[in-house]
Amino acid sequence: MTIIAAEKGADKGPPPSADSRFGNGGELDITFVGAGSAFSKKYFQNNILVVKGGVRVLVDCGTRAPEALSRLGLSVTDIGAFLITHTHADHIGGLEEAMLIHRYVAKRKPRMIVTEKLRRILWTMSLRGGAQFNEVHDGKPLQFDDLWESLLPKRVRNAPRELCFIKEGDLEIGLFRTMHIPDSALGWEDSFPSYGLLLDRRVLFTSDSRFDPDMITWLESEYKLETIFQDCQFYPGGVHAFLDDLATLPASVKAKTWLMHYGDGMEGKRDRIRELGFAGVAEEWATYRFA
Ligand SMILES: [Zn+2]
Ligand SMILES: [Zn+2]
Repeated sequence: MTIIAAEKGADKGPPPSADSRFGNGGELDITFVGAGSAFSKKYFQNNILVVKGGVRVLVDCGTRAPEALSRLGLSVTDIGAFLITHTHADHIGGLEEAMLIHRYVAKRKPRMIVTEKLRRILWTMSLRGGAQFNEVHDGKPLQFDDLWESLLPKRVRNAPRELCFIKEGDLEIGLFRTMHIPDSALGWEDSFPSYGLLLDRRVLFTSDSRFDPDMITWLESEYKLETIFQDCQFYPGGVHAFLDDLATLPASVKAKTWLMHYGDGMEGKRDRIRELGFAGVAEEWATYRFA
């Protein structure tokens, strides 16, 4: 894995990592559109752009994603497919803008990779309020299918937890259930639907998840994980993985784990993160390239 570093600053124009924003020679490129937590004011939200050849998948589209994309020289209309991991606003808050710009400006349907379960939640609990009554279409208020083309992943039977796969061009994406909310849930089964990703069977992106060593042990044994992008927080409790808990993972796992979804206090934790044996923190606007 090589890192194409970010160079930030409003006056500097798109960073070098933006070179691969529209496509590449077939490498798997993961660019952090943001790497911050839900409440971060210093960092954009933890959403990533996955590019492979001509494929462009935006994983989550938080409240600030349209702005972050625009700083990278991209628009929500440049995205080939949106993939949603769960329905917190730092992951879906920008979807209304994406949806309405596609319908009323670009005049085409955006595509969304989403499980049926999450699609139902996303529409009935979130997106509907800003879309359903915008117009009368064929005598009826708008429905999800009027606004989005759904790409439904295929469920794998007999996996240790809910797991499904989908291909977008040459990119293969696995979606599996995670343990995120509520904090009282005992495992992924009694957690509200949220998904982590397995990209090309080599990169694990946890999205939001509490400390879940079973998830890592399972994916480590089943697939040859090269790199792990792991949700983290710097205090105990709550619905994300506490740094001190993550520190108990095997050294071989920590050495390939990059922490993400961090709070504004991240700079003060860099040394400790390195001392604990992690690869480092995922930097927003940097591209992680898997050749
Ligand atoms: Zn989040
Ligand atoms: Zn969340």
